[in-house]
Amino acid sequence: MKCAPLVALLLSLVTVCTANAAALSPTPATATSLNKIAEAYVKLVLALGQHDPDYVDAYYGPPEWKQQLQGKKPLDSLALEANRLRDQFAKISNPADEMERLRLAYLTRQLSAFEARVRILKGERLKFDEESQALYDAVAPRFLETHFQEILAKLESKLPGEGTLLQRYENWRRAFVIPKDKLDTVFQLAIKACRERTLAHIKLPPNENFTVEYVTNKPWGGYNWYKGNYRSVIQVNTDLPVYIDRAIDLAAHEGYPGHHVYNALLEKNLVRDRGWVEFSIYPLFSPQSLIAEGTANFGREVVFTKPERLEFARTVLFPAAGIDPSRAEEFYAVQSRSAAARNSNRRNAGMSLSSYWRRRGFRAIYARMTPPHATVSQQKTSCSHRKAA
Ligand SMILES: [Zn+2]
Repeated sequence: MKCAPLVALLLSLVTVCTANAAALSPTPATATSLNKIAEAYVKLVLALGQHDPDYVDAYYGPPEWKQQLQGKKPLDSLALEANRLRDQFAKISNPADEMERLRLAYLTRQLSAFEARVRILKGERLKFDEESQALYDAVAPRFLETHFQEILAKLESKLPGEGTLLQRYENWRRAFVIPKDKLDTVFQLAIKACRERTLAHIKLPPNENFTVEYVTNKPWGGYNWYKGNYRSVIQVNTDLPVYIDRAIDLAAHEGYPGHHVYNALLEKNLVRDRGWVEFSIYPLFSPQSLIAEGTANFGREVVFTKPERLEFARTVLFPAAGIDPSRAEEFYAVQSRSAAARNSNRRNAGMSLSSYWRRRGFRAIYARMTPPHATVSQQKTSCSHRKAA
């Protein structure tokens, strides 16, 4: 994994929030030059967003920068501007201050991903690992086929009966779908618990909050839209069956301490307190997504140990959803294995990452919807796609 500087930056961010450490003082010359580069980078990302509606996932920087956009700049022109920015990076000596060094490393990696996205939009085709490296600065770990066969063998023993393992699994888990009329009640219970548990670890910015919307006809299961001012909108797709474990998954991953908290801390500690405007924009196809998704997934483990999660689900969520609480242990035992098994076919030699996401989003929606509603959106590398199928 080559994203250590970004991880270090995130850790620094959380440390700043929890310990309220005094802000370090970068040298004015370095801060000024980096601020200018950061502004140019934000404007480039906004300009590429004119070509690719999925690219800018969130923006709450100066509104005039967005308003000043006039039509699409040619992709070649954006590539040239990115190249000029890269030259400016090269002229900057390594800042003495650690946070400024991390800032420079972050901007360098983000710009590299920007350039790769421009090449892809111009028609360049990359294999799965090449694309993940170019856009996310990381390559997924490899597992031998035997690793997954062992998981499937364990699932076989837990789901006996007629039909294929997949059929038996789908039949078995129907009993654990949250009824639509109970979805909000269950989700709000999970959000409340996740927020309380997050506050035990992290001081949150004042007045942070999010609203939950239930939507249809989307290529993902859930999505966090960060709006700035410590506010998010979290959307849950009700076309897809929402299984009971998704209540905590969604609440922790999208809300507390996942995407909502991550973005609110970025805004508080980096954008507002330090004036690092590059964090007011979130280009979806970039290393920032890797960190965002990683922290959101890890968030679930921060707020609940596995025994705590099981107990909370059994005593609170299962009853609220009208699902038999005595089956909670059985449910989590199978789900933990099936989640690992679903990861078995994510890297397909010769398939690009983009086409993988497109197919996956399509399959998830199309399998559950009648054709007139089934649409294929532009691919997005959100949490939501992983969860959708
Ligand atoms: Zn996510």
